[in-house]
Amino acid sequence: MDLRFEQDLSDVDFGGVCPAVRPVLVAGQVRNIAGMLRLQLEADTTLSCVCDRCAATFDKPFHLSLEYLLAEELEGEENDDILLLDNGTIDLAELVREAFILNMDTKTLCREDCKGLCPGCGANLNEEACRCKKEIDPRLAALAKLLE
Ligand SMILES: [Zn+2]
Ligand SMILES: [Zn+2]
Repeated sequence: MDLRFEQDLSDVDFGGVCPAVRPVLVAGQVRNIAGMLRLQLEADTTLSCVCDRCAATFDKPFHLSLEYLLAEELEGEENDDILLLDNGTIDLAELVREAFILNMDTKTLCREDCKGLCPGCGANLNEEACRCKKEIDPRLAALAKLLE
């Protein structure tokens, strides 16, 4: 059985940012392999991210690949790869939503070496130099006064 649907995850909030501004495209299939039901899903979208360091917004592709076995009941120990069916059904929207949250990067950077904002003057150090005045060494302050 082929599966294909669009899911709205625009309400999923990561610290005040909801990156899934575009629909998430989900495609996959359930296959019966020797009496075992195997579910495979691929989810794709383009996220709208905010850099944790410099607050720039940027787009980033998001891809998720999921694979589970479906079972009516568990025999033996817990297994993360096995999904239990509930009355022969499974909530794919809930599954994709949980996987999306679990697979989101904990840190979002516009680029690996983002220099961020200066905590003193707020300059975006990727684009401009810091405008903070250099602190005068207290040992030289008296000398600086003489020069004024
Ligand atoms: Zn950045
Ligand atoms: Zn500065």
